[in-house]
Amino acid sequence: MVVEASIMKIHVNRIPFEGLREETTYDPALLDLKRRDLQLQEPIALSAFITKAEDELVVQADIACRLHLSCARCLGAFDSPLRTSAMLTYHVRPTDVVDITEDLRQEIILAYPMIPLCRRTCKGLCPACGQNLNLQACPHQKESRDGPPETETQSSPAR
Ligand SMILES: [Zn+2]
Ligand SMILES: [Zn+2]
Repeated sequence: MVVEASIMKIHVNRIPFEGLREETTYDPALLDLKRRDLQLQEPIALSAFITKAEDELVVQADIACRLHLSCARCLGAFDSPLRTSAMLTYHVRPTDVVDITEDLRQEIILAYPMIPLCRRTCKGLCPACGQNLNLQACPHQKESRDGPPETETQSSPAR
């Protein structure tokens, strides 16, 4: 995959009547997309279909990238794909050049998980000793937990 421009500019007068499909990749390092618990390490793939109707430019954007996250409960690192679609509309004049980069950046940030979890059932760390409870139980868990410990769901053979 070739990393192209860090920005995407659309020349309104170059959009044909039937619309234009643009495939491009963004270097995430140039887009200021970092969050404390989250990084992008691979290029962001953008597939856009651009149409123009009178004074309106419409960009149907499909965005795909890969997130490198740290789990909010156990602090473990994990990767997760991000896919999102957006419909961006702009009021334009025929001679305008529209830079959609900032809007794409916002769409990606909106698609971030609010609270990254390595798995839905992540047990997190023991508040008393810091043991990663996904790997091993610790003595502190008996008092604070009611009921038997959860067992990992497996495709159990019928006996
Ligand atoms: Zn976790
Ligand atoms: Zn403990």
